[in-house]
Amino acid sequence: MIFAIIAIIAVLLIIILVFGRTIRSPKSKGEHGESTVAKILGETIAGEQYVINDLLFSNESGQSCQIDHIYINKFGIWVIETKNYSGRIYGDEKQREWTQVLAYGNEINKFYNPVKQNATHIYHLSKYLKVKNVFQNIVVFLSRSDISSVTSNNVYSIYELPLIKSQVTDTTLSVDKMERYYNQLLELKNNPTISKAEHIENIHRKQEQIKQGICPRCGGNLVLRDGKYGQFYGCSNFPACKFKKNID
Ligand SMILES: [Zn+2]
Repeated sequence: MIFAIIAIIAVLLIIILVFGRTIRSPKSKGEHGESTVAKILGETIAGEQYVINDLLFSNESGQSCQIDHIYINKFGIWVIETKNYSGRIYGDEKQREWTQVLAYGNEINKFYNPVKQNATHIYHLSKYLKVKNVFQNIVVFLSRSDISSVTSNNVYSIYELPLIKSQVTDTTLSVDKMERYYNQLLELKNNPTISKAEHIENIHRKQEQIKQGICPRCGGNLVLRDGKYGQFYGCSNFPACKFKKNID
């Protein structure tokens, strides 16, 4: 009898410990996914490496940039964009917009090509670090999406991430250089020119301006134009301002 009581108390204690722990340290899916990416990369690419997660900065034209992971190892600087979409994803490197298909084709969403988005991040990093041709552009889709229809060598699902080894080139960064780039990026991370709240506000403001027909880049008016690939919204200050927005 006494053993049964002890057993019940033990079970209750374990339950409290396990659930208490989950309640105490809530983690969003995004955060969880990003730390998994960091772990897999660390285990896959051999040798010394430096990691910067969640780097937020404003670029030379004052726009905010948020980079999920940067890995610096002897094979270069790996810039990793993670995406947490569900459903089936369609797209290739050249397309401006990719497609997400949900609910057996009943819901279709468009989103900006993440390889191009990451290329923009790399462009700004390249300017900041004053180095070229050492970057790897990698996009990782986290667990819930089917990316078998995506044709791009830069895109991986989290399950296939160890295949990233195939991207290793003969670029070699010396330990000195690795340290220098890492310290420069750390400097940027520790002295951000912009806060997370400002970054989110920038994105919202931009969307709000577009909705109201205002060019988010120069404040001009957005006008409907005919292009090679159909109609789009362009800026009234073209050619001085080349802002473009596809019709949703
Ligand atoms: Zn404009």
